[in-house]
Amino acid sequence: MSVPHVLADADGVVLLDTGFPGDAGRIRRTIDQIGAGAKDVRAILLTHGHIDHAGNLAELKEWTGAPVYAHRSEQAHIDGKFPYTGAAQVCGMLEAVGRAVTRYRPARIDVEIEDGDELPFWGGLKVVHLPGHTLGHCGFYSKRHDLLFSGDLWVRFMMRTQASPRIFSDAPELVWPSMRKARAIGARWIVPGHYDFPNASRLRTRFERLCEEIEGRKRVTVI
Ligand SMILES: [Zn+2]
Ligand SMILES: [Zn+2]
Repeated sequence: MSVPHVLADADGVVLLDTGFPGDAGRIRRTIDQIGAGAKDVRAILLTHGHIDHAGNLAELKEWTGAPVYAHRSEQAHIDGKFPYTGAAQVCGMLEAVGRAVTRYRPARIDVEIEDGDELPFWGGLKVVHLPGHTLGHCGFYSKRHDLLFSGDLWVRFMMRTQASPRIFSDAPELVWPSMRKARAIGARWIVPGHYDFPNASRLRTRFERLCEEIEGRKRVTVI
């Protein structure tokens, strides 16, 4: 399951992804626990429009009235209308089934974001376009915390660290270039969209090892 994040500071609350359908209650409880409410939520940021990230978008948008920020290419994913091709058709099938059984509801993107945009949330978040997993897939970099939220570019899932697999990638050829772009930021912490333990330092090390592994494999292939 993906990990939605609730980013809070004195200026308010920002939601980063909204989890799989059914997670809305947990997100609302988290907001409640930090002493905030629906009116404190200033924005809902989406890394991408897969069901496990946009699953409660409609419900949380209605509850908070906050605008949705995402790359414009993600509207087709949010709507369940993306034309999957190649190995990613498996993803398309899973998305369609998931949406049918959970009675998923889509929502509109209010603010379209692009690479380099500076968003005035959580002390400043810079949009980092990291295409591959989906075409409009974006990460968010916090300069204040020197932390990159990297979405599903790579994940820690079922005790494995892996780059976005082909069946879950709209453009698999863009995954590695995006990983290099994320790595080049040199952030102290990296937090992916799926992980087991919330240990940003360990996740950072895992990302570095994964990059070295892929780089090594590519070098061998070139020779
Ligand atoms: Zn995901
Ligand atoms: Zn995804």
